[in-house]
Amino acid sequence: GGARVATETSNAIDVQNAVKRYGDFTALKRVSLSIRDNEFFTLLGPSGCGKTTLLRMIAGFEDVTEGAIHLFGDDIVTLPPHKRPINTVFQNYALFPHMTVLDNVGFGLEMLGSTKSEARARAGEVLEMVQLSQFAARKPSQLSGGQQQRVALARALAPRPKVLLLDEPLSALDLKLRKAMQIELKHLQRDTGITFIFVTHDQEEALTMSDRIAVMSAGEVQQLGDAREIYDRPRNMFVADFIGETNLLEVTVDTVTDGQAACHLGGGNRLTCDAVEGIGQGAKVHMSLRPERLTLSADPTQGDSLKGRVRENIFSGTDISTILDLADGPEFRVRAPNSSRGDRRTFDPGTEVFVNMEQGAARLLID
Ligand code: ATP
Repeated sequence: GGARVATETSNAIDVQNAVKRYGDFTALKRVSLSIRDNEFFTLLGPSGCGKTTLLRMIAGFEDVTEGAIHLFGDDIVTLPPHKRPINTVFQNYALFPHMTVLDNVGFGLEMLGSTKSEARARAGEVLEMVQLSQFAARKPSQLSGGQQQRVALARALAPRPKVLLLDEPLSALDLKLRKAMQIELKHLQRDTGITFIFVTHDQEEALTMSDRIAVMSAGEVQQLGDAREIYDRPRNMFVADFIGETNLLEVTVDTVTDGQAACHLGGGNRLTCDAVEGIGQGAKVHMSLRPERLTLSADPTQGDSLKGRVRENIFSGTDISTILDLADGPEFRVRAPNSSRGDRRTFDPGTEVFVNMEQGAARLLID
């Protein structure tokens, strides 16, 4: 009706000032975030940062100490889990060992009131979606770990939830299978249009799969954005350090003009990068420099370059990392792809070199 239009939202989930306390320990400190409909959204952070707690609050397995959670505009805080159009896929898929794959997927539907034949038809449909039709008659123990995880996924998708929560669902799988499943999950999300909220501590997994990511630590959201924003424009030390590999340098901001911050660091090294709101002239802050956006040369180039001395080169197959000692600075890392291109020179240990940076390679960080 017309009265609802004003409050209607295209967000699947709105979390507002959510606090979770266990006794006098605060696991979540006033978290606010909105998850859009049809979005692949990831909660990313180290162990203990509160991501599972937040997921369990959305599912209804955990009380909300303070704050509100809305699902498509409706307050769900007091709804019991089974009344929420939300399902969860857990890390330990917890399939029924004595039931066939088909019955494992159909069982929940019957509990929700479907007839046996309706449940079987729908189970068959979702098994096809996860490419397990040919295993419908098997028992879970006759499947590989990856196949069992797909059964768990099918079971969670069967009742057509509006939101699917995934709590580290791939962490028990080996690396190759895990990478394949990441792509599969992403496609499944796109094809079904269901909002996925995925929890992981694996930053690469988060970057690969997500439309948007909330990076969490110590019960707080440190940054929320798409993979590029999080990786290329980390807000603070925690995000820069947790996502990917980076060089963190202490710098002093000398001037800020025309959106550019001119900085200096030890050893007479100077460089310029994009200004960041809240970091003004005289500020002593950290700067993040991604190793793959830097190159080495024997002579300084036209733009900014830092002077250093090669300590060692490390070959990893795909890349060659060069460890440098900057003049009057910390250990520093530059990474180049293992390629035969002539502009990717490596330099012997002991050589004096210049580190040159691409546009946008350097980023000033708040705290
Ligand atoms: P992990 O990746 O290890 O699961 P997480 O980020 O999901 O970590 P949570 O499980 O949400 O972290 O836990 C957040 C914090 O809350 C942790 O410090 C944890 O010890 C604490 N915690 C979780 N559940 C309880 C509980 N029932 N009682 C007391 N403290 C709890």
